[in-house]
Amino acid sequence: MTITLDRETIKQDRALTTEEVERLRNEFPILRTRPNGKPLIYFDNAATSQKPYRVLCAIDKYYKNQNANVHRGVHFLSEIATSAYECARKKVQRFLNANLSCEIVFTRGTTEGINLVSNSYGRKNVKAGDEILISYMEHHSNIVPWQMLCENTGAVLKVLPINREGELILDDLENLLSPRTKIVAITHVSNALGTINPIKRIIRAAHERGAVVLIDAAQSASHLPIDVQDLGCDFLVCSGHKMYGPTGIGVLYGRAELLDSMPPYQGGGDMILSVRFDKTTYNTLPHKFEAGTPHIAGAIGLGAAIEFLNSVGMKRIEAYERQLLDYATNILKNIDGVHIIGTAREKAGVLSFYMDCAHPHDIGQILDSLGIAVRAGHHCAQPVMEFFGVPATTRASFALFNTRDEIDALAAGILKVKEIFE
Ligand code: PMP
Repeated sequence: MTITLDRETIKQDRALTTEEVERLRNEFPILRTRPNGKPLIYFDNAATSQKPYRVLCAIDKYYKNQNANVHRGVHFLSEIATSAYECARKKVQRFLNANLSCEIVFTRGTTEGINLVSNSYGRKNVKAGDEILISYMEHHSNIVPWQMLCENTGAVLKVLPINREGELILDDLENLLSPRTKIVAITHVSNALGTINPIKRIIRAAHERGAVVLIDAAQSASHLPIDVQDLGCDFLVCSGHKMYGPTGIGVLYGRAELLDSMPPYQGGGDMILSVRFDKTTYNTLPHKFEAGTPHIAGAIGLGAAIEFLNSVGMKRIEAYERQLLDYATNILKNIDGVHIIGTAREKAGVLSFYMDCAHPHDIGQILDSLGIAVRAGHHCAQPVMEFFGVPATTRASFALFNTRDEIDALAAGILKVKEIFE
């Protein structure tokens, strides 16, 4: 089933209407499940998003009618599978506005994309005494690979600090960047705080010092429009499963010139042009970085997810989710004993909070008994938790199918937590 938005509603400059959201909700079969006998209210979109019919259908169709390995066979199915796989790459290219489709490398997800860059670009270009700059609000997957690179090369990890609102302290950027800075790796949107970072400004400053920039777009790719050429970033990574697509598939965008100069990340089939015992020649982009049989169904599913996002419109999604965030923030900040972590001026639909009366896990369990799925924990951002002096938070993260009624139910659930624990 696909959704058709009439002409009038396709205007890019305004948020989705209640009726449109109701129609979009019908695209998500999982929204009909009833956890604990209650209608599902899914507020764990930052962990993984739910999947619309068109994604499920694309995967089903691939396995039922098109399944074959790609780039290898000359038979009918192999040609169809190869064309569907490469067509998905083109959809990603257009979605991110990359200059060339060979700049899109399919990975397992954001984590693998970062590891690919740190192992390939990093090991080739980073030496002892060089510096890598990340920020205090990074997900562990944008911290640990750089620490590993530093351990292996003798480079030094620098960290851009944040303030109590959960914003980067940009005044410190100039001091932390130096001619020794080789890589700057920054998240577009923080999964723990919701902060939208001014990445264009950071990219410009990093380039002035000759550093390359990797943007972690795990939390932005399905919430904000992204244009890699306008941003001017060197690398950008994201995960299909947070974009209404399948798990196990992700994207590394890299400028062709950089990807070309980088050694392969893994060796194996498909990433070579010829193999002899005395010398192997590597394949051209992007295949040089896609060793072995790829996640073909995943890429096709991601292509369908991108079509879904395009059919709704990224600007309209951004506007609608901003409305949801403002609505939820206004309610929660007025509940006594609820403290929101992450109050940046520029925020995406992530609401992290703690309560004086209850542990985040208890809050999560009570909300679960009401059918409300939130996340409780450190959100793989332990430095952020440490900075705010809390072991964990409860996090509600929004998607285009969430509604104000659901936020009212969340608020009622929080009042119930207070009733039980106070
Ligand atoms: N970066 C950020 C900001 C994230 O939110 C996540 C997932 N929570 C990741 C990286 C890692 O993504 P994945 O597990 O899909 O590789």
